[in-house]
Formats: sequence, C-alpha cells, structure tokens
Amino acid sequence: MTSPTGPAPRIDLHAHSTASDGTLSPADLVRAGADAGLDVLAITDHDTTAGWAPAVRALPPGLRLIRGAELSCHWSGAQPPVPLHLLAYLFDPDHPELVAELTRVRAAREARGERIVALLRADDIDVSWPDILSGAAGGTVGRPHIAQALIRAGLVASTREAFGPDWLGERYRLPKDDIDVFRAVRLVRAAGGVPVFAHPRATRRGRVVPDELIAELAAAGLAGLEADHEDHSPAEQAHVRALAAELGLLVTGSSDFHGTHKSVQLGAFTTGVEAYERIVAAGVTEVASG
Ligand code: AMP
Ligand code: FE
Ligand code: FE
Ligand code: ZN
Repeated sequence: MTSPTGPAPRIDLHAHSTASDGTLSPADLVRAGADAGLDVLAITDHDTTAGWAPAVRALPPGLRLIRGAELSCHWSGAQPPVPLHLLAYLFDPDHPELVAELTRVRAAREARGERIVALLRADDIDVSWPDILSGAAGGTVGRPHIAQALIRAGLVASTREAFGPDWLGERYRLPKDDIDVFRAVRLVRAAGGVPVFAHPRATRRGRVVPDELIAELAAAGLAGLEADHEDHSPAEQAHVRALAAELGLLVTGSSDFHGTHKSVQLGAFTTGVEAYERIVAAGVTEVASG
C-alpha cells in the first residue's frame, strides 16, 4: 500500500448507498469512488450489510473495498439517552447475534418512521408512510427518506431545511430503539470487526458524549475515532485527535458521503495509511480488490 515515492493513497472510510440513506446504488457508489480517484473506499450503510455483495461485484480495477456498516447506538448515561453512530469494519456478516441485532434495529427504524409520519399527519402535513417506505426501496429507512417526502410535498426546500428544529431535527424527531453502545462495541469485536466511533464530537448534530465515555469505550474494545469529518469544526477535529492519541486509538477521516442527500463529496476527508493498515490487520473479513 505504501509507496516511498508515489502520492499518498486516498482512503475514504465512510460512505452510504441506497442500501440505507445514500442516493447511489452500491455499484454506482464504488464506480464513483474510482472516479473520485480513491484507492480505498468503505461502504458503511446504516444497520445493514445488504450493499456488500453488489458493491464487490461492481468493484472497478484499482479500487479496494472495506466492507462495513454504521450501527445506530445510544449511550444511556444521560437522559434522554444520547444517540450515536458506531462504524464497524471487516466483521463477519453472518455472526448470528450481530445479524439479529441489525435486523431488530432496521425494524425499529420502520416503527419509528411510521410514528414520525403519524405526528406529521396529526398536524395536517400530507406525507404518506407507504410512499416513504417505497422511496427507501428496501434499504434501511431513515429521516432522509422522510425529508424527501417533505421536499416532494413542497414543505421544505432542502434536506438541510428538513433537519431544522421545526421539522425532523426537533419538533418531529423521535428516538429509535437502537443498540447500547457498549453492547455494540462488544458485538462488533465478537464478530471479528473493528469498531470506530463516527463523528464523536459533532456538536452541530446535537448532544455529544463526554470524553470519559470514550475512554470507557476504548477499554471495552473501541479501536478508533473518526476525527476529520464535515460535522467537526477544526477545533473539534483537533480535540478528537488529541483524545485518540491519549487513549491509543487510531484516527480516521472520511466523507460520510450520502449522494445528493448531502453536499459532501467522496474523498472530501481521508484516512492515513497507518490507520488503514491497523484496521485491516484487526478485521476478520478480507479487503476486496477490484
Ligand atoms: P436517522 O438515522 O433516521 O436518525 O437519520 C440520521 C441521518 O440523517 C444521518 O445519517 C444523515 O444521513 C442524515 N442527516 C442528519 N442530519 C442531517 C442534516 N443536518 N442535513 C442532512 N442530512 C442529515
Ligand atoms: Fe445517514
Ligand atoms: Fe453517522
Ligand atoms: Zn454515515
């Protein structure tokens, strides 16, 4: 991977497809990764591995694919619990307990989506749950799919506006029945995977967890922290880097690409080779090569 003379490899370890709330199919996602000049891309759909096989089949020559997922979690040390995201790389997709947990969370997302729609409809907002579910086209359903329905109804102009406080960001925001983060870290490790805390300091998304919790997660098996991410300010990125150094955790940077559901582009933030190599060494699933 390392070349003493060539340019540094471009490694983006967080991207979504239509298997969850991205807008490119898994096949189009890997093609877009190659077009963006990436050497390594991770597919990390919310609570599913459904995009892995089609992404591997379409993998263009020269691109390596890390198979992963982004697990919906919560920390119950605050009230109400703080929602957070755990990236999981190179785990066994057939690990029974993890498979059962992901299946349960996807069902919980559907129940929660339907309840959000009921709240909207109670306020005479004309959105339809069957339409939203068909908009997700079998992928893990999330608020971005509800945002699309609000846009179609002419109620908001953009996904960003749909995530504002008057809509899905606060007034019509409901929690989902997701995974306790300590259980998630242990499950990912039990399945041979590598757990990395996604955008841990993203204060612009809402509440964040204290550094003490991150230290406890590190003791429980957390491998790394995502530092470079568009939802972190430069000060937040620096803070995450310093914390990772203190705790001996690896540091990643990634786009969290969602196609047209967000404006960020593939490769907007990248991960260093050293962190990539630590992830590959720790994971049970091979990196796929095009
Ligand atoms: P959910 O998983 O249903 O709670 O929805 C969270 C998802 O919504 C995240 O994974 C992002 O894809 C997206 N999201 C969150 N905040 C924003 C925002 N401000 N603008 C656009 N998309 C967002
Ligand atoms: Fe998302
Ligand atoms: Fe996330
Ligand atoms: Zn993500």
